[in-house]
Amino acid sequence: MAHIVCLSFDFDAMSGWIARGMTTPTPVSRGEFGVIGAARILALLEKRGIPATWFIPGHTLETYPEACRRVLDAGHEIGHHGWTHRPPASLSRDEEEAELVRANEEIRKLTGRYARGYRSPSWDLSPNSVELLLKHGFYYESSMMGNDYTPYRVRVGDRIELQKRAAFGKESQLIEMPISWSLDDYPHFEFVRTQSTVLQGLRNAGGVLANWIDDFLYMKRETEWGIITYTFHPFVIGRGHRMMALERLIEGLAAEGAEFMRMDAAAESFDRRSPYQ
Ligand SMILES: [Zn+2]
Repeated sequence: MAHIVCLSFDFDAMSGWIARGMTTPTPVSRGEFGVIGAARILALLEKRGIPATWFIPGHTLETYPEACRRVLDAGHEIGHHGWTHRPPASLSRDEEEAELVRANEEIRKLTGRYARGYRSPSWDLSPNSVELLLKHGFYYESSMMGNDYTPYRVRVGDRIELQKRAAFGKESQLIEMPISWSLDDYPHFEFVRTQSTVLQGLRNAGGVLANWIDDFLYMKRETEWGIITYTFHPFVIGRGHRMMALERLIEGLAAEGAEFMRMDAAAESFDRRSPYQ
């Protein structure tokens, strides 16, 4: 029996705002706060002895090399998160591949090897993404929502058209480490105002924490073996009241027997249980 918890941190800094054309001083500073948040998170993880996975865009790797080096030196996994923070679904195949290659070279410069895990900016894969991830040797992917506590093999060749039944392709060896917006700090907490929409955010952290703990408790009650992946952004979770919630989450899950793992290790654990046929 094992109930595995993956804490993942998308270290976007200002790349997410830049990708939306928000390059003026205030949104840039909002992303800049991620470096402050990252230092707080690293201190908390070190204090608790918890390994984690950090998905870092090439833009952050090049802009903040020292901050990224500290993540690596603390023993955390560095995953791929695009070079710019543009969602793959908004890119041509060539643009998407160029992003993959450029950021992967940055990761190799830092860690000595290419990334094993990929998470798309804004969780929006293109129809080409899976094929490109396989071509470039990725071991796992973490942008899809087709399960909650059980990783699965990503399909290639789905045919999805408006007036036809969904025709599913074949399973590939690429492992999906599924995610959910409900297990992501961003939509709960960030207030975002654009020309066309308002994301209200700014929720009470205690209420969100209760949801996050219940998702683990449900896994523990209903499964013999499972993985739950939480997603945080240093510029979001790094604020005081949210850091308190993160700390309570870690304490609460640890008290319930959670086994904290990097996502590459958790994916390997799934791979051993359910080898690719
Ligand atoms: Zn991101």
